[in-house]
Amino acid sequence: MSDRRTIRDVDVKGKRVLVRVDFNVPLDRGKVADDTRIRAALPTIQYLMEQGARVILMSHLGRPKGKVQKELRLTPVAERLSGLLERSVAMAVDCVGAEVETAVDRLRPGDVLLLGNLRFHPGEEANDPEFVSRLASLGEVYVNDAFGTAHRAHASTEGVAHHLPAVAGFLMEKELNFLSKALESPEHPFVAILGGAKISDKIGVVDNLLGKVDALLIGGGMANTFLKAQGHQVGQSLVEEESLPLARELLDRAGRKLILPMDVAVADRFDAEAQSKIVSVEEVPAEWRILDIGPVTVEHFAQELYMAKTVVWNGTMGVAEFPRFAAGTQAIIEMLAESQATTIVGGGETAAAVQQVGLVEKMTHVSTGGGASLELLEGKVLPGVAALADR
Ligand code: ADP
Ligand code: MG
Repeated sequence: MSDRRTIRDVDVKGKRVLVRVDFNVPLDRGKVADDTRIRAALPTIQYLMEQGARVILMSHLGRPKGKVQKELRLTPVAERLSGLLERSVAMAVDCVGAEVETAVDRLRPGDVLLLGNLRFHPGEEANDPEFVSRLASLGEVYVNDAFGTAHRAHASTEGVAHHLPAVAGFLMEKELNFLSKALESPEHPFVAILGGAKISDKIGVVDNLLGKVDALLIGGGMANTFLKAQGHQVGQSLVEEESLPLARELLDRAGRKLILPMDVAVADRFDAEAQSKIVSVEEVPAEWRILDIGPVTVEHFAQELYMAKTVVWNGTMGVAEFPRFAAGTQAIIEMLAESQATTIVGGGETAAAVQQVGLVEKMTHVSTGGGASLELLEGKVLPGVAALADR
């Protein structure tokens, strides 16, 4: 369980509470295209409102690289948040400065103000001490509910925590509890499923999980490098040559724990309309490429998952963006949705695939943080979490 203090542990009544949220949502023609991240922060915001706090929300949006970019203003987010809260959320002109201070002074208990995009200021990503002080001066209590950005040591995620009493919001608490409990005291059998494009993104995860899991199922592009390391021909498949030695080492260390695809869906080109067929991993044609796991592999994975009490999944089993190569990912989603195990899903594309078929509710937990959840799975301490007060 997370050992960080939370908003339940501090008195916020009447106080100016500075809350880092992750409102880095996709926009489409000036509107919020997916409000999952906004919804995920509602419990914290509503609790603070009910407690009579003066709520000051701050977030980044996109990658403006320290400069004002009109199309990355948080105005559409303020609109959507107002709708969700059924009360108007004021939008500040910026995140620091005299005008913002005036707006903060005007807040009454229960009011909500959304600051301007933090990343319009270079001091945010640089964790610049002066920018940190200016931000911190706006609040009396600091709450971090931005799990998705907790792996970054930025001004609003880390710096500010050293200036104010700093606690976790409900989303942060929930994410840490599910992910750290699964890693620290999982109910066995504990099975991890890893996929996605690149093995280099997930070497640290494989390394850390090998010591904890009963089985590690590997699919997606990253399986190709392992298959090649075992001596299979993988044709035109995505392979990271420089990771081959490490893949061999991990295969040796893992022994029978690490389970690779036995059959795969191959394509004659990287295209949604490509010709495709199912072949054994011994028979990948030289001019073709692996874009999904095959049905025999799904059966083998199913046997491990059938017995599992805890399952952690990160990374799609194939190029799930192409319907023709989404079958492996779909099969995993369905198995986890029906499973009685504690099921924890992380990763941007992976979570999106679960959401697309409307099965988020069938999982124990779908993480809102891609990079942050990966770093937890690697066994790292997130800077944004480390800076919060211990119990
Ligand atoms: P997540 O965002 O869930 O953490 P990743 O970003 O690691 O997952 O990986 C997802 C990406 O991996 C998808 O864009 C998918 O197209 C790609 N991918 C999966 N399998 C393959 C494959 N066999 N060949 C090429 N790309 C793949
Ligand atoms: Mg991704």
